[in-house]
Amino acid sequence: MSTVAYAFDANFDVEVPLLIVGAGAAGLCAALAAKEAGIEPWVIERDAVPAGSTALSAGLIPAAATRFQRAKGIDDSPHLFAADIQRKAKGEADAAVVDAVAHGAGPLVEWLADRYGLPFDVVDNFNYPGHSALRMHGLPTRTGSELINRLRHAAESSDIAIIPERIADGLLAQPYGRIRGVEILRGDGRRERIGCDVLILACNGFGGNQDLVRRFIPEMADALYFGHPGNRGDAVIWGEALGAELSHLGAYQGHGSVATPHNILITWAAIMQGGIQINRDGLRFCDESQGYSEQAAEVLRQPGAIAWSVFDARIAAVARQFEDFRDAERAGAVLTGGSIAELAGAMRVPAATFASEWTDVERLKAKSGQDRYGRQFAPQQLCVAPFHAVKVTGALFHTQGGLAIDGVGRVRRKDETLFQNLFAAGGAAAGVSGSRAAGYLSGNGLLTATVLGRLAGQAAARQCCGIESRSSG
Ligand SMILES: Cc1cc2nc3c(=O)[nH]c(=O)nc-3n(C[C@H](O)[C@H](O)[C@H](O)COP(=O)(O)OP(=O)(O)OC[C@H]3O[C@@H](n4cnc5c(N)ncnc54)[C@H](O)[C@@H]3O)c2cc1C
Repeated sequence: MSTVAYAFDANFDVEVPLLIVGAGAAGLCAALAAKEAGIEPWVIERDAVPAGSTALSAGLIPAAATRFQRAKGIDDSPHLFAADIQRKAKGEADAAVVDAVAHGAGPLVEWLADRYGLPFDVVDNFNYPGHSALRMHGLPTRTGSELINRLRHAAESSDIAIIPERIADGLLAQPYGRIRGVEILRGDGRRERIGCDVLILACNGFGGNQDLVRRFIPEMADALYFGHPGNRGDAVIWGEALGAELSHLGAYQGHGSVATPHNILITWAAIMQGGIQINRDGLRFCDESQGYSEQAAEVLRQPGAIAWSVFDARIAAVARQFEDFRDAERAGAVLTGGSIAELAGAMRVPAATFASEWTDVERLKAKSGQDRYGRQFAPQQLCVAPFHAVKVTGALFHTQGGLAIDGVGRVRRKDETLFQNLFAAGGAAAGVSGSRAAGYLSGNGLLTATVLGRLAGQAAARQCCGIESRSSG
């Protein structure tokens, strides 16, 4: 059972200045930043090859005022970005963390591009709900596997020690909460203890721990978990034992468009470009443009816990830039009909009800109208045959609550004081989405993983340097 043991003295197999638990986007950005600052970090990772939820994502990082945006004439600023984050989070996100990520994201993307050769560009053919500028930066394949592979390559090229098949199984701390090291379970079943001056928790949230999901996010207790199964909530478990402040544990990134039974993500571009969702009775059920995160629970509330995403060939062409969508087509998840009646037959939904909903929406598009749920349509969203439909369900992607931190990832106690040598970044820390699924602005996951990973790595390295200069002085 993963927990915290208290001891003033402990024997360690090895002692390192900076230990990082988890080699996802957060852990690797932290390691790169620390290494640049002159510290030799060790990164331990439970898997044989680092992947994490980062590999499962589309790899899109939102960032404001980048040179990639300027090259395409996109006007944006960190202030606008911060306002978008807080608007979606209903003002509930920690202001210092929002400020740090909104200002740090542009430099982060340019740092990864210029220093480590990650070839970002801005997605400019559709926008995600809630972003008032085009600011999603992606790699050529638009996959998280490309992002994690490039980060791992950067780390390996920088001679950073990533130690695979090591599960952090418990923390060793002094009674007042100073971290001394980590108890490790090795792939071969043996145990070892690594001591550290500073610890960064980058082991994501608790999506892979059904008991914790049931406890903190009951509405998603029985939903498909689409993230990395090894993210079992260790940071939250240890934080609770240490007396850390745990913040917004009910927040999460859901997604209302996972092809079922194929389990392939269907990009939300299919909706934002003018697609709609209907349930198996042929009826629409909400304003789909609010966001894909809150849509997960909406879809799960429908009969059979499914919905159909419906769009046309123009929209399919935009969606095809994502490998997932191409996979869905290859897997036969995307149905096609020359007319709505023909499509309804393939979907086996009541044709008259579906056709009436579809016609209403197309009329609204033509006159820039608003529907009964408040969704605003525009003429450029009009659809023409052939039409497509994908049967989808709602899924839990990752949890957004976690350890409360300051603007550089330093973990806070319940009494507001900061732990001396404990940092958290990415899904291990509380995000910037407020308390609910609806607070998740697209990209908040990788935003906090990469930017706070980098900031925590820099701050941890400064602390290690201070420790070293004190001990040598
Ligand atoms: C399908 C999907 C699509 C997504 N799309 C996007 C997107 O386009 N944009 C976006 O911003 N976000 C997206 N997200 C969210 C995003 O993937 C995550 O927020 C982000 O990857 C979190 O990074 P991380 O480094 O904190 O965690 P991870 O990438 O999950 O890395 C954590 C690592 O820690 C390791 N680990 C865990 N516990 C231990 C332990 N005890 N000991 C040792 N190692 C441990 C894990 O094996 C893992 O490798 C998506 C998520 C999913 C599931």
